[in-house]
Amino acid sequence: MTDRFPASSLDELKKVLAGSDSIVITTHHRPDGDAMGSALGLYNYLEGIYKNVSVVVPSIDPDFLHWLPGRKNVVFYDQNPAEAIRLMKQSQVIFCLDFNWMNRVENLEPVLRESSAYKILLDHHLDPEDAYNMIFSYPDACSTCELVYQLIVALGDRNRLTPGIADCLYCGIMTDTNSFRYSSMKSYTHRIIADLMDAGAVNYRIHEKVYDQSTESRLRLLGYSLKDKLIVLPEFHTAYIALSGAELDRFNYKTGDTEGLVNYALSIEGIRLAGFFTERDGLVKISLRSKGNFSVKELAAKYFSGGGHRNASGGQSSGNLEQTVGKFLSLLPEYQAQLQDEN
Ligand code: 5GP
Ligand code: MN
Repeated sequence: MTDRFPASSLDELKKVLAGSDSIVITTHHRPDGDAMGSALGLYNYLEGIYKNVSVVVPSIDPDFLHWLPGRKNVVFYDQNPAEAIRLMKQSQVIFCLDFNWMNRVENLEPVLRESSAYKILLDHHLDPEDAYNMIFSYPDACSTCELVYQLIVALGDRNRLTPGIADCLYCGIMTDTNSFRYSSMKSYTHRIIADLMDAGAVNYRIHEKVYDQSTESRLRLLGYSLKDKLIVLPEFHTAYIALSGAELDRFNYKTGDTEGLVNYALSIEGIRLAGFFTERDGLVKISLRSKGNFSVKELAAKYFSGGGHRNASGGQSSGNLEQTVGKFLSLLPEYQAQLQDEN
């Protein structure tokens, strides 16, 4: 944990940053709290030191992240593609945060790949692509925000942490650890959280802004999903929820409204695998969660063109909702023995 940012890499990084006229920070498609928190935490830090720092994000973030300091300056490709491409093309340094494979930036992938900028990866997903100039890849980190914090400290800039930076980084650690409860949360991560509070992060307000901003329709959708759509398969220690596009429309679905829904399926006693399926933009998006050693990362990678972490992964399918759920169900017998295992 202590040598994630060795002095030789930091010297190189400082040289690259000092010699650059424009820096872009990017993160993955459908950004979550860690993606936006790490991008904006790093943005607010770099912006105080270097000129022409921008954040370019492939697609819009959910409403519950709109309060993040600096968010008004983010260029979202799906709102302003020309500007997003222009910034990427002219940048000399690109920070790639919270993803391992370049296809995670979706429509921006060709621009990112073809760019001659110096590319720096800061991430906690397994198996990063070998396409960056500098790689800081630590799958044992609970979040990319943890790495941004450690980078700033390693650069000798703990005193540059503002309340705004601290809020962003706190937010990403909180959301990626499901409020500090996953096994990725180590004692040193609690110390980082304490230091972020000392630097001005207002913990209770961040929890309120992220978790207590539901619309009535979002809560009704949750109620409907739990009462009418949750399927429990005790013999496979599995539970899942599948929602069609029409069902989402009925509850005025907005980005982020189904965030966390899969965790309800996982919270049932004895359940070790939880799935959530939704139809969006002609694709079925899949979220998988597990408890213990059962790896949903492998399941997502092998069968649903996805990936992620051992206990939280995602993917997609071009089949319709029924076909996708059917495929998921057909896989369960293969995993039945592993799912019996309580470890
Ligand atoms: P979620 O279910 O919240 O969308 O995603 C959970 C985790 O799975 C994310 O943190 C991300 O690491 C991973 N993930 C989600 N969707 C995809 C995908 O389409 N491809 C890959 N490689 N990983 C994904
Ligand atoms: Mn993350």
